[in-house]
Parts: sequence; C-alpha cells; structure tokens
Amino acid sequence: MIEGPSIIEISRSAYLNNVQYIRSLLSNRSAFYAVIKGNAYGHGIETFAPMACRVGVKNFCVFSQDEACRLISAVPDEKIDVIIMGYLDESGIAWSIENDIQFYVFDFSRLQLTIDVAKKMKKVARIHIELETGMNRSGFRQSDWNKLVQLIRSHDQELRVCAFATHFAGAESLANHFRVTRQIKNFDRYTKKLNELTGQQPLLHASCSAAMLRFPRAHHDLVRVGILQYGFWPSPEVYVEKRIKSKFDHDPLKRIISWKSRVMDVSYVDEGEYVGYGHAYLTQYKTKIALIPVGYASGYARSLSNTGHVLIRGKRANVIGLVNMNMIEVDVTNIEGVETGDEVVIIGKQGDDEISVASFSELSNQVNYELLTRLPSGIKRIITD
Ligand SMILES: *Cc1c(COP(=O)(O)O)cnc(C)c1O
Repeated sequence: MIEGPSIIEISRSAYLNNVQYIRSLLSNRSAFYAVIKGNAYGHGIETFAPMACRVGVKNFCVFSQDEACRLISAVPDEKIDVIIMGYLDESGIAWSIENDIQFYVFDFSRLQLTIDVAKKMKKVARIHIELETGMNRSGFRQSDWNKLVQLIRSHDQELRVCAFATHFAGAESLANHFRVTRQIKNFDRYTKKLNELTGQQPLLHASCSAAMLRFPRAHHDLVRVGILQYGFWPSPEVYVEKRIKSKFDHDPLKRIISWKSRVMDVSYVDEGEYVGYGHAYLTQYKTKIALIPVGYASGYARSLSNTGHVLIRGKRANVIGLVNMNMIEVDVTNIEGVETGDEVVIIGKQGDDEISVASFSELSNQVNYELLTRLPSGIKRIITD
C-alpha cells in the first residue's frame, strides 16, 4: 500500500471514552446524534462512521446529501438513522424520501417542494421542522405558523413531522447567555403551541455540544453533538465552567485524532544563514534542520511560519522560516540523534508531550472547528486502538 507524506490516526478507545462521557450526561429520554458534517470535522466520514457504528453510535446528522451518501456507503450493512440538517436540492429531496432519510424543512419553498415530490413518489417524507427562535439564520417564524400548520394538517399523506428543531446562536460563549436562554424559552413556548395547533407531538431537539453541557433542560428528545465527541471542548470557557461545576481534576475527554509524518531529510546550516524562502529566518547558531513533508496544501497553516512546532523523539521542534506548500523546516539542533525516517507528530502525543489542536490552532488563529475541517480529505486516515 502506498502511504502519503502524512497520516491521520483515529483512536477507537478515545472515541468510546467520549461517547461514554456524553451518555453519562444524558437522561434516558435524550438520544445522542453524532454530527459528522465537514467530513466528520476532518476526521473523515469513511473512517469515522464504521468506527462509530462499532461502538454503538448509529444516529447521525449531516449537512447535505453528498455527506449522507458517503455515510451510507461507508456503513452499508448498518441500520442507521440519518438527518440532513442543511442543503438539499429537488433531486436530493427525492433521494432522501426514497432512502428514508430525514431532513430539515425551514421555509415554505422547501416544504412545498417536499409535498410535491412526495406526492409524485406516493411516499411520505420524514421531516424536521426548524423553528426560528432567535438565531436569525433559518427556520419558520411565528408569522408563518398559520400557513405552516395548515399545510402540515392537509398533507398527512406526504409529510410525517418527526421533530421540531432549533439551533442556538453561540451556546459556547457565556456572553450569549441571555440570548440563548431566551431561545430556550421561546422553543418551549413555540413547540407547545404548535403541538396544540397541529394536534401532533413530534420529537424536540435543540442542543449542540455546548448547549448539551450547559443547559440540561434543553436536552429534549435528542442532542446533536459534534465537536465534543471528537474530544474537544466547544470553547475554553465551557471547559472551565464544566470543570468547576463537575469538580473533575482531569479532562474527561480524549482527543481521537493524531496527525503524523516522518522526517524527510536532515541537514546542517551555519550560523548567520537565512533558511528557506526569503528572509523569514536567520540562524543564530549552527543549526540542524529536519525537513517535514507537510505544508499549507496539507492543512498546515501558513500562519504557523516561525511559530508552530512538532514532536520528534518526544521533544518539541520549532518551525523555522515560512511554511511551504508541501514542506516545513524545523530546528532539531537540541534533539539527540534525529535522522531521516523518524516519526513526527504534528497533532497528538509522543512521549510525555502532546500538541493539541487547541494549542496548534491558537497559534494559527483558527478555532478547533476550522482547523479540523480544513485537514484535507486526501490524507489517509486509519483507525488505531
Ligand atoms: C454543527 C451543528 C451542531 C453540532 O455543533 P457542535 O458545537 O460541534 O456540537 C448541532 N446542530 C446544528 C444545526 C449544527 O449545524
């Protein structure tokens, strides 16, 4: 098998640990749905989904039809539940109905299209009605309710309303407390009213990772958990708040991703020489340099030029000079015996040290979410224990 210049490892035991932690926070009423949009937050849908199924996670949320397709192909023999939360065109709606995939409906044009397509197919569409509760992004508003209820009631052959859903406008930031708690109240009021008007009692769901941690009263029938299952806190403040409340002394989550490469070449440069393109780095001493085959084309941000670091032989080596398209140079002068072929950890543990995505992304001014999802899908992913 041909290996690329770097590889991403996904730890099954770390994932199991995170799933158990998430489940420990939920009552029996609330199901855990794994959000795997953005190529499973960069972990790779094809790698992540089979592993998730093996540890018993069979409920998934994706953004679009292409992700749902990849998910289904990745676990052909599993009976899974899939919700598409975002983009769908007309053929995507037909495909979803055909394959019994649930999907969000957030406006009248999608609702009407769904009714028309379902009627033509003589099948029922399983829909999640999204309600606008204060984020002002998507969802039906109160002024839409009359028409919405009338359409739902008159199309029970075409529509099965599986759930009412909403999304919070930044539950990971305590500064949004007022806005989010008002959304929680709105969602409670709105769904109560809509249950009366429609004569139905579909499931309710609202919470992402941060809301699940911070607002147990918004767990409802299911939670849509993304970042937390991968072992990351939605924000430092959510972590600190949870740590104080739960009094844990070590992080209950484990990062499941590691990103590794190998030293491609080793060389020595005299004191007073510029390294790499232009004048970004001037050696202050005779420097031993290791060349690593990752660069901005493989998701290693250019802003880590002269600031990033990697682990080699259990020690930190600083990136010197500019991040190139496919390579970085690191200073290994003070690491004993580095040679071509040595393992390089870009994200993850080696020896007693760890480079977390959080510290990595702080350096490059990206949040975990963004950094992870920008890891190219072309890097090979494997499962480890
Ligand atoms: C991404 C997303 C989630 C999950 O968010 P996390 O913060 O990663 O848990 C939940 N709901 C919706 C609608 C989303 O788009």
